[in-house]
Amino acid sequence: MLDTASAKQKLMAFAESIFNRGLTAGASANMSIKTDTGWVITPTNSCFGFLDADRLSVLDQQGNLISGDKPSKEFLLHKAFYDQRPDDTCVLHLHSTYATALSCLPCANTSDAVPSYTPYLTMRLGAIALVPYFAPGDVALADAVYEVAANHPGVIMANHGPIVSGKTVESCVFGMEELEESCKLAFKLKGHQANLLSKDNIADLKAKFANK
Ligand SMILES: [Zn+2]
Repeated sequence: MLDTASAKQKLMAFAESIFNRGLTAGASANMSIKTDTGWVITPTNSCFGFLDADRLSVLDQQGNLISGDKPSKEFLLHKAFYDQRPDDTCVLHLHSTYATALSCLPCANTSDAVPSYTPYLTMRLGAIALVPYFAPGDVALADAVYEVAANHPGVIMANHGPIVSGKTVESCVFGMEELEESCKLAFKLKGHQANLLSKDNIADLKAKFANK
């Protein structure tokens, strides 16, 4: 488990990289890291490109603010993953373009919402769950995420965007990047007779790489 100073350093580096690559705009993203004393999380209305280490919200293990600015109002969503996945230490939420675009489409299977054209999403996150729309900050949204979080480290919130949990900061961020790329592929391949991975291919990947 990281200490607060190391968690702050890591959060700043990854957040800036995410901003510089255009995966988030304005103040829409939030990210938290579990530490040996609680959590570090981006403050409400903060922008990933211009974070200040001294203003990052430091929370104790009960979620009380110890130092820094007021935490993101989406901390409830992050908490849903931490409560269901005790080994996970990082949660990232973005409004990245392709995953958010996919969140606005009708979904045939809410337990497996993103098509598997390549092995990498299955290897990193497994099947992606889609939860219904609720207004940002609504407790019902956190409850919906809580319901699926034990089996799904990657979740898309309808008409809103993706949220991903990971055992490490790296696995969380790389999982989110793969989710965004997989959604991008889904749009690029729309209208083409693209081959999906077979059920046997997926079962084989799950056996070898399952991130459960
Ligand atoms: Zn959001």
